[in-house]
Amino acid sequence: MRKQALRASEALSVGASMADLDELEITTVLGCPVDCNYCPQSQLRQTKGNRKNRLELGDFRKALGNLDIDCRISWTGYSEPCLSQDLPEMMISAMDNRRDQVISTTLNGNKDSIDWIIRNPICKLFVLHLPDGQNNMKGLKIDSSYINNLKLAIESYLKSGNIGRIRIMVFGNKLRAEVSDIVKYYYQKGLLTPRNFKISTEPSSRVDGVQHVQGMKLVKDSLGNYNKVSSMGYLCTKRKLNQPVLLPDGSLNICSFDYGFRGIYGNLFKDKYSKIRKEWIHHIKSTYSLGSLNPCTKCEHYVPYEYLSKYTKYQEKDSPYVAWFDTKLTLEESILRAINIS
Ligand code: SF4
Repeated sequence: MRKQALRASEALSVGASMADLDELEITTVLGCPVDCNYCPQSQLRQTKGNRKNRLELGDFRKALGNLDIDCRISWTGYSEPCLSQDLPEMMISAMDNRRDQVISTTLNGNKDSIDWIIRNPICKLFVLHLPDGQNNMKGLKIDSSYINNLKLAIESYLKSGNIGRIRIMVFGNKLRAEVSDIVKYYYQKGLLTPRNFKISTEPSSRVDGVQHVQGMKLVKDSLGNYNKVSSMGYLCTKRKLNQPVLLPDGSLNICSFDYGFRGIYGNLFKDKYSKIRKEWIHHIKSTYSLGSLNPCTKCEHYVPYEYLSKYTKYQEKDSPYVAWFDTKLTLEESILRAINIS
């Protein structure tokens, strides 16, 4: 379902709506060797300091026990989820807890975890974050095993009747050649359709953590400084306040765009989520609505209410299927360009 931005009035009453939580994002390991150019891992390395590095299985189960709100579990956060060898057991625990699950993976990390997520097509959304033609996923090793895993992942969801749950995601105009051949095969057979794609040619700055990406404009370059204008009501157009990130030490951070950990609150290993959320919303609601919440003040998605229409022009492209692509191209044309057909 497409996310709706909060209206200013809703923003002001955000604390009243605890049912608003969409997803809890999970970071299984702090630090990611894939080191994409549009992901500020160097900032993360400085930020994390002595913070606990790996999410332990027992701690994750404690967090699940305290998650007293209906929401999905999203395996993404600040790094590749398969870096954890405990990922399969954690996903089984989330299943036992009757949670819908979403994963975004580069198919990099612990071999057993990669095998498990490929062979168990349980996710409501299985995002394959694939390499672009400019090599912006610079730490990704593309060998025969990687290529084989990519095919197996698509086949696994195909055989389970859930191919609609696969999303091919690329940051850039084109997929890397070795990968685009595989995607092209499934697309030309009609097994993957435009609804399976998310093509992003304009990444977010991730709260000013990213300054430049080879071959791409950033969202903030398109939108300019509109979000610096004062207003009586601001809101997060990404609805990210409703999607906090669990860190390996149990604390939550405001959203997955903030690699500087400037919005840390609570501890889900110790307290119920509803209590943590209520206290946090009470703490931030006026600064959020009035446009002075840190780190949102540095974020292009923090928008004064009267500038929403300008933002919406871009956000219309931010359907579940495609984001920020060249406005002159249709979705289908963007896909054909990405898989080297046009
Ligand atoms: S930092 Fe940006 S994306 Fe995150 S909650 Fe604030 S406005 Fe939304």
